[in-house]
Amino acid sequence: MTSLAAAPSPSVRVRAPGKINLSLRVGPVEEDGYHPLVTVFQAVALHEEVTATEVADGVGLSLTVDGPQADRVPLDASNLAWRAAEVLAEHVGTSPDVALHLSKGVPVAGGMAGGSADAAATLVACDALWGAGLSRAELSGLAARLGSDVPFALLGHTAVGTGRGHLLTPAMSRGEFHWAFATRDEGLSTPAVYGRFDEMYGTTAPPVDVADDNGLMQALRAGDPTALGAALHNDLEPAALDLRPELERTLEIARNGGALGAMVSGSGPTVAALARSRQHALAIAATWTAEDAADAVWCTTAPAAGARVL
Ligand code: ATP
Repeated sequence: MTSLAAAPSPSVRVRAPGKINLSLRVGPVEEDGYHPLVTVFQAVALHEEVTATEVADGVGLSLTVDGPQADRVPLDASNLAWRAAEVLAEHVGTSPDVALHLSKGVPVAGGMAGGSADAAATLVACDALWGAGLSRAELSGLAARLGSDVPFALLGHTAVGTGRGHLLTPAMSRGEFHWAFATRDEGLSTPAVYGRFDEMYGTTAPPVDVADDNGLMQALRAGDPTALGAALHNDLEPAALDLRPELERTLEIARNGGALGAMVSGSGPTVAALARSRQHALAIAATWTAEDAADAVWCTTAPAAGARVL
């Protein structure tokens, strides 16, 4: 018997990770307004999932989102996933006819690059859906045009980022690290944090040097969480704390709870705590909740793989 039901439209589902900057070193602002960076990225096992579904020619782009903070995500061309589909379509000379659905598992506006992960996942999903067959190097070039954290979401695992953070060198990391994250509903604008950094350090910030992270890289290679906790570094933390002094208490609670290291994640307002084990991460998160030091808490492990088709 032949079924009269229409065949489902082809679709591709891709998962991409959020990230933490284990070290973020920021140099003095340059004439073009950008800051040179040296950063050590590690992907975390909080993921975005993007499903790209074929639609008829000429229908154009559409975007839907689900997840705990979906209401905070724009559904128009300002969404990085939308822009990724447009950039890829233009590159391969097709029109961006695709329905995108984002399932968000990375905190929104928490300095963990959830939007960048969506963009990376969309590039991979649309490349597969449209049969474009771009190489990883070509996808990475398009990713860098979308944002300086997008190439790392493609690559995943652990990498040193230089330039604006987009020039990546993969790095070795052994074993699994356990993290707890405290997020806040009220975001902290990345430009505002850099602005405060400039006010605090102006042009006197020392130039960035990858050698300053030698101890951290050694801790990663050894899979030594205690040494990693001691080597965590974020040059933006004083500026973020100046703008949001209440984050000090969140850091202090993690340290009092025995965290191996605690810091503001990227430009904040997320606070990250490195724990000894999954149970220890859960205990730190529970204390944050009990003491009302976070609007939401998240526990996960690192590293995690880059964007890949499911
Ligand atoms: P940043 O890269 O600026 O550090 P972030 O990691 O702190 O960003 P994201 O969740 O990636 O946080 O997004 C920050 C802001 O970008 C959001 O508040 C939202 O307005 C906008 N945005 C654009 N595209 C997306 C997306 N796909 N998901 C979430 N937010 C997005």
